[in-house]
Amino acid sequence: MKYVSTRGAAPVLPFGDVLLAGLASDGGLYLPDSWPSPPPAPALGATYVDTAVDVMWPYVEGSIDPRAFRTLVGDAYATFSHPDVCPVTPLDDGLSLLELYWGPTIAFKDVALQLVGRLFDHELTRREERATIVVATSGDTGSAAIEACRGRASLDIVVLHPAGRVSEVQRRQMTTVHEPNVRNVAIEGTFDDCQRLVKDLFAAEAFRSDVRLSAMNSINWARVMAQIVYYVTSARSVASGGPVAFSVPTGNFGNVFAGWVARRTGTPISQLVVGSNSNDILTRWLASGRMETTGVHPTISPSMDIQVSSNVERLLFELYDRNAGLVVDRMTELAAEGRVDTGDTRLATVTEVFDGARFDDDQIRAEIRRTLDLTGVLIDPHTAVGVAAARAARRDRDVPMICLATAHPAKFPDAVEEATGIRPPLPEHLADLLDRPEEYDRLPDDLSAVEAYVRAFVTG
Ligand SMILES: *Cc1c(COP(=O)(O)O)cnc(C)c1O
Repeated sequence: MKYVSTRGAAPVLPFGDVLLAGLASDGGLYLPDSWPSPPPAPALGATYVDTAVDVMWPYVEGSIDPRAFRTLVGDAYATFSHPDVCPVTPLDDGLSLLELYWGPTIAFKDVALQLVGRLFDHELTRREERATIVVATSGDTGSAAIEACRGRASLDIVVLHPAGRVSEVQRRQMTTVHEPNVRNVAIEGTFDDCQRLVKDLFAAEAFRSDVRLSAMNSINWARVMAQIVYYVTSARSVASGGPVAFSVPTGNFGNVFAGWVARRTGTPISQLVVGSNSNDILTRWLASGRMETTGVHPTISPSMDIQVSSNVERLLFELYDRNAGLVVDRMTELAAEGRVDTGDTRLATVTEVFDGARFDDDQIRAEIRRTLDLTGVLIDPHTAVGVAAARAARRDRDVPMICLATAHPAKFPDAVEEATGIRPPLPEHLADLLDRPEEYDRLPDDLSAVEAYVRAFVTG
């Protein structure tokens, strides 16, 4: 399989290069040059890992040995504390919950990052290279990336979080990992400051090549690839071949785009509901054909607090029949003007399968309470956006609707307690999190200070 950039001016690359590159050199996002045929029907008793290997193999073929790939996939999902890896449980009214939170950091980013960390290590070791991962986080991404990289011989990781601005559970999930290849830094600034620092580090060319800087962020194709799998397994488990709908709490559009790929490659998905919090650029786009940024609004579902959903670029590329020139025009206009119209007749091919719905914090708390009352199941605020969106935007009540549960309720205990009066306990492997010793450094919001810190860590 070869990969092409959505902006058409970067080299066509095999999987291994796309994995390490993340963003394409022309600023675009990589996609397979053609879509593979549907995965084979599962053997009787097929496990999550069996299906994962079948679904992902066409995307990595030619870049990795089949037995090595199977081992990496098996190891990645052996870190999950549920035997089904991503189990499906029923809710009320034909809805069900796809629980994506049984990985080490109890949020769905583990599903992709547990595999991607291993793929990075495998590819770098094969090349006899090392890389440094630098991540800015407002919460979930940092701990998932640390768990993906910890103890891996070819990787160092530095995570920047805004001092005093992440929840205690989130901070401790990062700062209680004591490994020689992991560093945490509290930056005296906001999440936006952290993101700008990382962007500036990537722009500093000498630094970038000296420490072999790399990214595992949500635009990395390998993350989308790993997320296709649970659409296939869950559709098979609830619908046995018939149509199925999904509702997805959405931020950068990586998760729901994986659902679109599952549909494109043969899973019978009749509807994809995009759930948004008050950061509703996607809901407005789906309704009007106009994409317009309005600044970031902090909410009780912080992992969805985004300005622009970067993975939408992949959908636009498909919408424009892979005409990269049109993608460049639209993305340039969006960056320059803060808005762009994509609303020509082609938007109909998007709204044929996608619907959007948005919910503010009060509505999210009400959904957490409603779901508890109706089903006895506690859900986190991100999951609640998806469940509320499923109830609001469902097209056909005869089609089973799967709601993606993207975080364990104990990851956001304050919001869940405020909505229900119940404080969800952490799962067993994290039960002593609040007693573990923390370790992190503190730096000013200053590029040269961060550069010097990373250099000293990597060479020292
Ligand atoms: C990252 C995240 C999301 C958003 O996923 P995208 O792929 O960015 O759309 C939703 N919920 C939780 C808990 C997350 O961590």
